[in-house]
Amino acid sequence: MELQVILDKIVQSKSIVIVPHHNPDGDAMGSALGLYNTLISFGKKDVSVIVPSAFPDFLSWMKGADMVLNFELNKNDVIHKIDCCDLLFMVDFNSSKRVKGMSEYIDSCKAFKIVIDHHPMPDNNVANIIISDIEVSSTCELMYVVLNKCGFKNYITVDAASCLYTGIMTDTGLLSHNSSRPETYHVVADLVEIGINKDQIHRDVFHSNSFNRMRLLGYSLFEKMKVFNDLKASYISLTSEELLRFEFKPGDTEGLVNYPLSIEGVDVSALFMEQNNRIKVSLRSHGNIAVNQLSEENFNGGGHFNAAGGESFYNMETTIEMYLKALPKFI
Ligand code: 5GP
Ligand code: MN
Repeated sequence: MELQVILDKIVQSKSIVIVPHHNPDGDAMGSALGLYNTLISFGKKDVSVIVPSAFPDFLSWMKGADMVLNFELNKNDVIHKIDCCDLLFMVDFNSSKRVKGMSEYIDSCKAFKIVIDHHPMPDNNVANIIISDIEVSSTCELMYVVLNKCGFKNYITVDAASCLYTGIMTDTGLLSHNSSRPETYHVVADLVEIGINKDQIHRDVFHSNSFNRMRLLGYSLFEKMKVFNDLKASYISLTSEELLRFEFKPGDTEGLVNYPLSIEGVDVSALFMEQNNRIKVSLRSHGNIAVNQLSEENFNGGGHFNAAGGESFYNMETTIEMYLKALPKFI
């Protein structure tokens, strides 16, 4: 029923906008551009991907990435596009707070709105149709299923499939977590069958580090990683001066928060990054530690049970204290 409506809306629409969340990652960009490329190959002429903030360089090979509009760089164009579109897709998020400064324009947009996402607890007022499944590995996996069921299978090109594959790989840490359902592997198999160059994608996404990014990783692990054995916890903090020293670019700290979790006995890890007068918080955990709740209660955020994010408007020292104080309740 909902799938039929989605198909009808795509067929009828004149101008389609696709929006992923702020600080878009592989899954957000993969699902947005996977959908974009499928709609273009289906014959839609006016489709735009709009990001609330810049995406990492290691995703710039994706077909259509060069056409993506960045709200932070093209405010007027973006506001006009959102105002004039008749179909709006929101991918890899489920509450308009997740697009930061763009939220007022998304909220007031009169277009038919569709959410495709895998985060818990969607805001039911955010869209006309909400396709939400927290069991899937990634929004990209869900996007593939939705496109397939809507009848677009033959329009999922190699370019679209490559984007979708990327999101599955980045959201599961190369199939190491969130990937215990056989369905995920059926989707991966379909994408391989469509003809993606899997090895090339892995080179582009995971083996395209800059010298500075590698040095930032080394510095973070050697100088800035703290481990608290009694709390089974760890954190890494990076000030804006430190980020500047390593010529930080979006995506450079992607995955950094996962490293401490590979230390035996560490079950929860945080990354605190000072950016634009606030501290961006990333949280990861093993097992039964609900970092989305920890983030919601302390850092104005949320996310998945074992992978969440948020922000703090306190200074670094206070933010770290808040984290260490909050932990005992969750471990
Ligand atoms: P990351 O640490 O990679 O930025 O985010 C980890 C997970 O938490 C992702 O699924 C992301 O969508 C979610 N997340 C990150 N920041 C926020 C936030 O401020 N609010 C909410 N609700 N989720 C977030
Ligand atoms: Mn995701």
